[in-house]
Amino acid sequence: MTDIRTDAAAVTTPDLIAAEGAHVARNYSPLPVVVSEGEGSWVTDVEGRRYLDLLSAYSALNFGHRHPALVAAATAQLGRLTLTSRAFHNDKLAAFAAALAELAGKDLVLPMNTGAEAVETGIKVARAWAYRVKGVPTDAANIIVAAGNFHGRTTTIVGFSDDPQARDGFGPFAPGFTLVPYGDAAAIEAAIDENTAAVLIEPIQGEAGVVIPPDGYLRAVRDACTAADVLLIADEIQSGLGRVGTTFACDREDVVPDLYLLGKALGGGIVPLSAVVGDAEVLGVIAPGEHGSTFGGNPLAAAVGLAVVELLATGEFQQRATALGAHLREQLDALVGSGVTAIRVAGLWAGVDIDPAVGTGREVAEKLLRRGVLVKDTHGQTIRMAPPLVIRGTEIDWAVEQLRAVLAR
Ligand code: PLP
Repeated sequence: MTDIRTDAAAVTTPDLIAAEGAHVARNYSPLPVVVSEGEGSWVTDVEGRRYLDLLSAYSALNFGHRHPALVAAATAQLGRLTLTSRAFHNDKLAAFAAALAELAGKDLVLPMNTGAEAVETGIKVARAWAYRVKGVPTDAANIIVAAGNFHGRTTTIVGFSDDPQARDGFGPFAPGFTLVPYGDAAAIEAAIDENTAAVLIEPIQGEAGVVIPPDGYLRAVRDACTAADVLLIADEIQSGLGRVGTTFACDREDVVPDLYLLGKALGGGIVPLSAVVGDAEVLGVIAPGEHGSTFGGNPLAAAVGLAVVELLATGEFQQRATALGAHLREQLDALVGSGVTAIRVAGLWAGVDIDPAVGTGREVAEKLLRRGVLVKDTHGQTIRMAPPLVIRGTEIDWAVEQLRAVLAR
């Protein structure tokens, strides 16, 4: 076999997949493509084949691969300073936090790195707020979460998942979470008690298959939280930052949560960057020494994050997601009944349920790969599409043509 370390020019897709299998723990089962370059909505594999990326790293690439403004911000910062830790100040964090707070209409930003860290941070902030502000007795706080949730992979988070693949074999789990059906505001209202610190929900459930709750759900949940003095925490890690045609998915119902959890696209597809964003009376409960992360708020991530917020502040990407999303919906609608049993679309984000007579979601994803389109299956029969917001209408048409051809076989 080719030595991938010494003979880089000769390596093939099978070589690299075999080499990865030999030394990388098998926590994923990737589609058989080895990507080596990316630009805009397209990637190229090691053998020079091009693919239209309809996954965008689960929305982390909302602005496409190597957006020039983001690469420029990262490159400039790489030449100056990359990491200080928060033991010292750096000259980039303030501008990033100010811009993100303004975008969200909130006072404060707590920067972290990954989405799961932002969720963990939200949980800690909500508990601290419950004990210090609301007056919940020590260690009695509960947080309400929704069935079908996906908030990340840490032990606390998988402990309140109802997906056996995410949680089985990883207990014991942290107590203090109440699971209720998703999309049912009355169930949340009924589950709230005097010790409830927060309701933690995805405004649209991504990993579950782009599950969109009924109209009025978010508004009713907001009202129930306000009435009972409970925080509403919106996990917008996948749904936020332009994906659904608005800056936040909560904007679709003019709902403002107490805490936004942001990640993925915040790092511009370049660096891991997440944040919890909220007002001082909530996020201000955290005191020095109680929470942090070595890389949280690092100047490289802050420089990229500022450039991301500046792109979003133009409104251009939200408009693209709205217009192109309507186009995608129209195209996908035409497939329902022809190999597709149902579609769910919000902005440029779609869950497409494949008729089992055609094959599984994974089989369809593999066939699309051979036709130059990258998508990801989820929960057996669903494929998820989250194209970069820079995609063109004609590229969407071409991708849907490939799907139509796959379904016809
Ligand atoms: N929350 C939501 C809604 C997500 O979709 C994800 C990841 O898919 C996460 C949290 C976890 O983010 P990360 O993988 O960066 O930890």
